[in-house]
Amino acid sequence: MTFADLPLRADLLGQTPYGAPQIDVPVRLNTNENPYPVSSSVARDISAAVADVVTSLNRYPDREAQALRADLADYLGHGLDAEQIWAANGSNEVLQQLLQAFGGPGRLALGFDPSYSMHRLISVGTGTAWVSCRRGDDFSVDVSAARAAIERRRPDIVFVCSPNNPTGTATDLGVIAELYDATPGMVVVDEAYQEFATRPSALELLAQRPRLVVTRTMSKAFALAGARVGYLAADRGVVDALHLVRLPYHLSAVTQAVAGAALRHRDELLASCGDVIDQRDRIVARLRARGMPVCDSDANFVLFGGLGDQAAVWQGLLDRGVLVRDVGLPGWLRVTAGTDAEVGRFLTALEEVTG
Ligand code: PMP
Repeated sequence: MTFADLPLRADLLGQTPYGAPQIDVPVRLNTNENPYPVSSSVARDISAAVADVVTSLNRYPDREAQALRADLADYLGHGLDAEQIWAANGSNEVLQQLLQAFGGPGRLALGFDPSYSMHRLISVGTGTAWVSCRRGDDFSVDVSAARAAIERRRPDIVFVCSPNNPTGTATDLGVIAELYDATPGMVVVDEAYQEFATRPSALELLAQRPRLVVTRTMSKAFALAGARVGYLAADRGVVDALHLVRLPYHLSAVTQAVAGAALRHRDELLASCGDVIDQRDRIVARLRARGMPVCDSDANFVLFGGLGDQAAVWQGLLDRGVLVRDVGLPGWLRVTAGTDAEVGRFLTALEEVTG
């Protein structure tokens, strides 16, 4: 039996699930993870925090995740308090809750492609219609084209991914402010990669903009992709609205303990970002020196082009033990900045494959 034989929602027929390949190869540079695992001293502290909650797992966790939200507010700064922060199982769940509350049947979400494919997929999954606005040739958001599209389509939610996955492009705060003014609905700035950026965060725009939301994650800079912790900062009214759609006790006591312990070690964890940024810049410089088109990146990955048949290059790299990401852009591939050794293997393999 296939799902097409089941009484599935008609709008899900023909959709393809999110599917970054999980292949066991020596060099995995395809899902923008942090290549550095937490140190053994941080691991010990996280384990101790988990051990502390294990004996109370007969009880439900703090439904409001108060302590964690206060810690996240403290980390973000910008005068934010815990009531303006919301946390969930990865920023994907935060995005899903936003769409459940502010999207849904009869509503429309708009994004600037190429961008993070889950914005569209979660929209579709929540019955929200999706419209895509193309980025310019340099993958920036063309503000007048964007304003025109927003004024024509009147979206309920606008997604701006900055730094943008898969291109690495950051969007100026002035552009985001203009999009906010043009939009009747919510504006969600997905800042999953902000810790790797030099441009300022959209958190600076939150005051006096109650329809603006900034989403973040602990999956990248904090090296905690496996723990599944994402969060947002917004007006407290947004957080109140999310209470209407979240599942009770959605964030386990174990997750809350892990995230809280990691935040206590944030200086050590975030120190790895500097090394990742150096490797990113090394990739950009090396590929440009070879004459390849390479996007400027404010994130922990690099989009590079001029490949002709990118699927063949992807396979050639995989045959040499290096997994990168084919994001479906003809002639382009995306590579995550890994350790010095991983990036070395990637660069050697790419030279072999592309000649
Ligand atoms: N936003 C962007 C732009 C991403 O690239 C990702 C992960 N690849 C996410 C959100 C989701 O991350 P998580 O659910 O792990 O927080």
